[in-house]
Amino acid sequence: IFALTNTEIKQGLSESYEKFKNLNTGKNADYIPDLAKVNSSLFGIAIATNEGKIESIGNVDTPFSIQSISKPLIYGLALKDNGEIINEKVGLDATGHKFNSIESIENNPTHIQNPMVNAGAIQVTSFIKGKTSSEKWERALSFINKLSDGKLYLGESVYKSETSTNLRNQAITRLLNSYNMLNSEPMDALDRYTKACSIMLTTKQLAIIGATLANNGTNPLTRQNIIEANYVHYMLSEMAVNGLYETSGQWWVHVGIPSKSGVGGGILAVVPNKMAIVVFSPPLDPSGNSVRGQEVIKYLSKKWNLHYLDQK
Ligand code: GLN
Repeated sequence: IFALTNTEIKQGLSESYEKFKNLNTGKNADYIPDLAKVNSSLFGIAIATNEGKIESIGNVDTPFSIQSISKPLIYGLALKDNGEIINEKVGLDATGHKFNSIESIENNPTHIQNPMVNAGAIQVTSFIKGKTSSEKWERALSFINKLSDGKLYLGESVYKSETSTNLRNQAITRLLNSYNMLNSEPMDALDRYTKACSIMLTTKQLAIIGATLANNGTNPLTRQNIIEANYVHYMLSEMAVNGLYETSGQWWVHVGIPSKSGVGGGILAVVPNKMAIVVFSPPLDPSGNSVRGQEVIKYLSKKWNLHYLDQK
């Protein structure tokens, strides 16, 4: 039976923080100009249990942009709004390609393959319900807020920065439209996608989202059920399949925890029925995953035997 004491959690946090605080490889994302400006030395780790206990170390109260970690969350809302049909429309298989791959659309145009990469996520975003475009966005922000502490907001500066430079995502969106894959006006879907990626939150607030997922969709702080357990199951399954893009296979072998990275430097790892581990550190590897974030989670997974296949 798994039960880490507070002391053990604190010890794991300080050990992993010390071990990797001087690891200085990788670099901030710079294809979104605003992300290049973020202080590369920021480093925070937070653990939230499925009962809502939070322990943390480092810069855990500094807001950063959620980026691709919004993808499994938006996928959850699209499932709530539309049901199982989403899985048929978008597909569930790993692409093996980079997150902004165009090739993966061309390889299989009637199936984008999964909601964790840009193409699939833009498609999923087009299925969010609402009478108007702004209502769809408000619903998305409010849903993600309910998974956390209700204080998340749109980062105007990163949103503008990405909007003025996202030619590649525009191309992906047009291509999706050419294959009739979208369920809303194309550029409206892309705008909502970009806004979702620009949601600002702290390491601790992201850990609460993770705790809600670890707690089968019930927010342990508010005790409200935000999403059905069977949809959480899909969200976590897709994180396991493609949460770290083309390096997801290595991640599963070495870490074995459903996880999702974002180019803002966050990584969310969810151990069902137990806890969430969140790391924020902006420098990324070439696949777009936080370098320190991966090391910390890998270390804690080994230390505490968190690999899915080691669970009894
Ligand atoms: N907003 C980013 C993009 O569309 C998200 C990418 C990511 O975090 N991997 O490129």
